[in-house]
Amino acid sequence: MTNPLLKPWTGAFALPPFAEIADADFAPAFETALAEARAHVAAIASQSAPPGFANTIEALELAEETLSRVGGVFFNLAGSDATPAREALQRDLAPRLAAFSSEVTMNTALFERIEALWQARDGLGLDREQARVLELYRRMFVRAGAALDDGGRARMAQIKERLAVLSTAFTQNLLADERDWFLPLAPADLEGLPDFVVVAARAAAEERGREGHVLTLSRSLVVPFLQFSPRRDLRRRAYQAWVARGANGGATDNRALAAEILKLREERARLLGYASFADFKLEPEMAKTPARVRELLMRVWAPARRTAEADAAVLETMMHDDGVNGDLEPWDWRYYSEKRRLLEHDLDEAELKPYFALDAMIGAAFDCARRLFGLEFRPLDLPLYHPDARAWEVTRGGSHVAVFIGDYFARGSKRSGAWCSTFREQRRLGGEVRPVVVNVCNFAKPAQGAPALLSWDDARTLFHEFGHALHQMLSDVTYSFISGTAVARDFVELPSQLFEHWLEVAEVLDTHARHAVTGAAMPASLRDRLLAAATYDQGFATVEYLASALVDLAFHEGAAPADPMAVQEEVLAGIGMPQAIRMRHATPHFAHVFAGDGYSAGYYSYMWSEVMDADAFEAFREAGDPFDPDVAARLERCILSAGGSQEADALYLAFRGHMPGVEPLLKGRGLLEPA
Ligand SMILES: [Zn+2]
Repeated sequence: MTNPLLKPWTGAFALPPFAEIADADFAPAFETALAEARAHVAAIASQSAPPGFANTIEALELAEETLSRVGGVFFNLAGSDATPAREALQRDLAPRLAAFSSEVTMNTALFERIEALWQARDGLGLDREQARVLELYRRMFVRAGAALDDGGRARMAQIKERLAVLSTAFTQNLLADERDWFLPLAPADLEGLPDFVVVAARAAAEERGREGHVLTLSRSLVVPFLQFSPRRDLRRRAYQAWVARGANGGATDNRALAAEILKLREERARLLGYASFADFKLEPEMAKTPARVRELLMRVWAPARRTAEADAAVLETMMHDDGVNGDLEPWDWRYYSEKRRLLEHDLDEAELKPYFALDAMIGAAFDCARRLFGLEFRPLDLPLYHPDARAWEVTRGGSHVAVFIGDYFARGSKRSGAWCSTFREQRRLGGEVRPVVVNVCNFAKPAQGAPALLSWDDARTLFHEFGHALHQMLSDVTYSFISGTAVARDFVELPSQLFEHWLEVAEVLDTHARHAVTGAAMPASLRDRLLAAATYDQGFATVEYLASALVDLAFHEGAAPADPMAVQEEVLAGIGMPQAIRMRHATPHFAHVFAGDGYSAGYYSYMWSEVMDADAFEAFREAGDPFDPDVAARLERCILSAGGSQEADALYLAFRGHMPGVEPLLKGRGLLEPA
């Protein structure tokens, strides 16, 4: 066997042999892996032995081993280093993999075995984790349509295949719009921009093979441009291009795709007997019902909107004082907000930035993981899939824990945003398997030889994704079905958002936020001003987020909208969206909701998790030490190592002893009414 994806991976840490893998290897590897998985599943379903946990559930756990190995490599590369060949294969694979997944969940003989086990569960002598895995398998099959009649099952399979095609197209259109747009900046257009923005604009030009400077729609470039450029005309052009992603007409327009996706989701939910897709989607989550989601979002909306409107009035006055007449527009907000931050908090993003070198922040995240959980990180010199990606071995007490890969810089071949995924998940079934975890970000790449500097926001993103990575790396379960981040969607952001809190610990900043050139620690006064401004502009941030979450919820409740853009406008008008703020993600580029099912009727999850992360960090405060070893051990035992081994409420209760209210969140965002 010569295909490097299929032969045993015998190199260091059994990593994929990246250097040997060519794009042409993927298609035949998927053929073999799919055939193998099909054969395994057929053998499990048709065996004559009566259903047992080992010959059915455990066998299913191992049935797609090769497929998940090949898929692990391919889908990571398709997201972080797309090429035309990879994009074409992804379009071809999406419906075929969806069809295979339907084939498995619609296999009647297989479902009968699972159902028989479920009915007999109390007499099977299962341990708690096994009982949980059986319950989740059955739930997955039922929710996939296994209990439907023949006609229903066939229609369900068609819907899933079509959805896979549509969501792949949605993602690729968005990447194309992001890749295609750039604005050349003449020397005069660079006025007012801090060095780091100028450097990033030069690097962006270089990447496009151009002289001089260009502005792109990469968040790490367009956001600081909107913050600092005094040129209202250019801010407006950049902003309008940024929010038009996916809505530019022509072949890459996502609006019709969004409408079709919503329609198919509704049909899928109704086939299964649910009133709406939101009812279907929320049932296994902590929130359970659309009403409970709306209750939380609207609880926060009122104070957030009040704060944002008050802020808008201040910013508009500053703009008028600046000699610009008329209304404050969305392309003005960040610019005047930055000026106001400088005035009120004496805090200048450009002054801060040298203290947030990428390597220092990676070191800070590692150091927090060491102090909390005893993890050690050793750089590895191994060939990876891209020269910008770096790897570390993670150990504890000398034992191997995981391989961690960091792929931090923006490039044209990478989709936007930041995420954590795995090349391999932790499990113990069939022998101990340790995970290979990757954090992917889109930080601006520095010029050759210069240090990479992050914004405060970027540094938070790095900590956020590293929190997800810890959830994967510390996972300690037998079955990969419940490994690591395989938890309720509205619980999965708890470890990541919780970890962000350590970036705000004064001693962490004192130790790690050192000047990239001089090595000097951040002056205490600057640090204090930074921390005092932690809730600055949270009205804006909360409003733009909530608007997206409420539109997502409205899309999936009741009948699917024929014209999602019209419904988007209705929702925004209904909640009284402030004039100068737009949704964080408008429908045509709302990848969370349309690039897959993950966050559909689920964008609220960040806020649901935030209710918990604010309360969870209080546990360390109450102990009087952000690194309190007992609280850290409890966090690892009850949450970070536990994966989906219990319902999320039970995991949280075990850690904290109570369920939180919304007050710590409002306090954390500075949205509590002054007493
Ligand atoms: Zn996250």
